[in-house]
Amino acid sequence: MADPQQEATVVVDRELCLGAGMCVVYAPRTFTHDAESKAVVLESPNDPLPEIRNAVDACPMGALSLPSGHEGE
Ligand code: SF4
Repeated sequence: MADPQQEATVVVDRELCLGAGMCVVYAPRTFTHDAESKAVVLESPNDPLPEIRNAVDACPMGALSLPSGHEGE
């Protein structure tokens, strides 16, 4: 069953994330930093998908990925 929350789900690879913060700049209602300055996805991501895509593209480490089906739209 399609989960509406799943639409905006983005995955952070914590091994790659350096805490540069570009994702927080581009999609502040989706990402924040945890105590280790690693990006984390907020419980209720609330940015439009294009902005989340911009954040994914802006990450210098390629640490962000969208689930398949949202990458090439
Ligand atoms: S832009 Fe990339 S490296 Fe920077 S905090 Fe976000 S996920 Fe981490």
